[in-house]
Amino acid sequence: MTAHTITVAGVAVDTRHWIGGERVASTETFTNASPIDSSVLGEISRGTATEAAAAVAAARDAFPAWAATARAERARILSAIADGVEKRIEELAIVETMDNGALLRSHRRGVMPRVAHNFRFFADWLLKLDHEDFETRGHTNHVSWDPAGPCVLITPWNAPLMLATWKVAPALAAGDTVVLKPAEWSPLTASLLADIAAEAGLPAGVLNVVQGYGSEIGDALTSHPDVRRISFTGSVPTARRIAASAAENLTPLSLELGGKSPLLVFADADLDLAVDLAVEQYDNAGQVCLAATRLLVEESIAEEFTRRFAEKATALVQGDPRDETTDIGPNIHPRQLEKIDGFVQRALAAGARAIMGGHPNQGQYYAPTLLTYVAQDSEIVQEEVFGPVLTLQTFTSEEEAVRLANDTRFGLAATVATGDRERAERVTAGLVAGTVWVNCFFVRDLQAPFGGSRQSGVGREGGTWSFDFYCDLKNTVTAPNGWNNHG
Ligand code: NAD
Repeated sequence: MTAHTITVAGVAVDTRHWIGGERVASTETFTNASPIDSSVLGEISRGTATEAAAAVAAARDAFPAWAATARAERARILSAIADGVEKRIEELAIVETMDNGALLRSHRRGVMPRVAHNFRFFADWLLKLDHEDFETRGHTNHVSWDPAGPCVLITPWNAPLMLATWKVAPALAAGDTVVLKPAEWSPLTASLLADIAAEAGLPAGVLNVVQGYGSEIGDALTSHPDVRRISFTGSVPTARRIAASAAENLTPLSLELGGKSPLLVFADADLDLAVDLAVEQYDNAGQVCLAATRLLVEESIAEEFTRRFAEKATALVQGDPRDETTDIGPNIHPRQLEKIDGFVQRALAAGARAIMGGHPNQGQYYAPTLLTYVAQDSEIVQEEVFGPVLTLQTFTSEEEAVRLANDTRFGLAATVATGDRERAERVTAGLVAGTVWVNCFFVRDLQAPFGGSRQSGVGREGGTWSFDFYCDLKNTVTAPNGWNNHG
């Protein structure tokens, strides 16, 4: 145990950066608190341009050897990282819960197993990644997936390790080296990942982790000329700054951003299912990019839907995310809580009515809220709240439902509840969204393309799409003749 190690729920976590296979401390730190009870978890190294430069240099130096490492060996190390995650699921789960306030039971059963799966999936995919050769007038075209170089990966706090490894795993599989910068509100599990990767035999410098405020360390990472890819998950305003910073070197970007996704409920839907889908949108205290926060319900069933929704949603248990019975935990930070309440109070002042909630509860908890009488062009309908706040609007025709669904600047996801297959096909075809779920929600397969349309993002990740992004594709055209060494 060093002065730079903190103990979180019995788990030792190093608070320093991980650069070139070594722990590196900054002179300055920032305070990391738990959203559960605002208790201080520790002081974390507060990175600057100096640590950013050191981490990129480490990633650049480690790149040639990692890029030249055989696919099978890269896949083996990724699988060993997955094993390491699986061995430490309990520790990762509790540390993540203490750090970001999301439910311990979800971390244990869903999120951390998915973290391991991220590594295993991309290890397996790497081994089957291929393009068929093809011919042009007798010449052979051979497409190869060349590693691109050092990547900067910047991630948010709402699902820290899951979202980080969704980028780290394909980047490493592709033969790239990585500088990961987790969010300052949830820095801890990225540090544990560095330990796990080192134990799994990942060579020094292939994965680097730098901590700090995006406003202080971000620009030095995203404007660095040695960085060949930037993958970012977070908010639209930050994405704009990153894109501007990356523009100087024309560094390719992948952006996974916010949403204001709709749930369309038609009168022909299984109403119990539709209500369940709607209540599910409070998961993770509403801090889910994909959440269908706009409930669009056919007018003829709106009253019955609202009654059943309120009945179910008021039964949700809000409280300590470590308790098995808790359904809704705290929001991440006092600033986030203030932001959420600001949206709600402005909506109420503009004439919205709260069917449920509409106020903060004790501590960092916000009452699950449902607002009606909201105008389509109002802030509460157009802007992402990122808290347990849903709006309900009605429609009278399929065309109106699709028009309302598409009428924001986002296009991340959409969910449709209907009992009519043909309607589902028509509506789905008309929706602008990276993912559409029909009579289900949050079913995710890592081989599917994932990303957002419009201001919800740029590019797609998942399966081959991830390798498209993290690799430089090269087409080699070889003539049939001209050899002098055949014999
Ligand atoms: P944010 O944009 O404030 O921060 C995200 C990350 O960017 C953090 O690590 C932060 O430190 C860093 N950052 C901030 N300024 C930076 C700069 N100038 N340069 C480089 N990095 C900088 O977002 P957040 O509040 O942490 O996350 C919530 C947002 O993320 C929501 O909009 C949500 O919808 C979105 N999100 C999207 C997805 C998706 O897959 N589409 C998934 C989860 C969250």
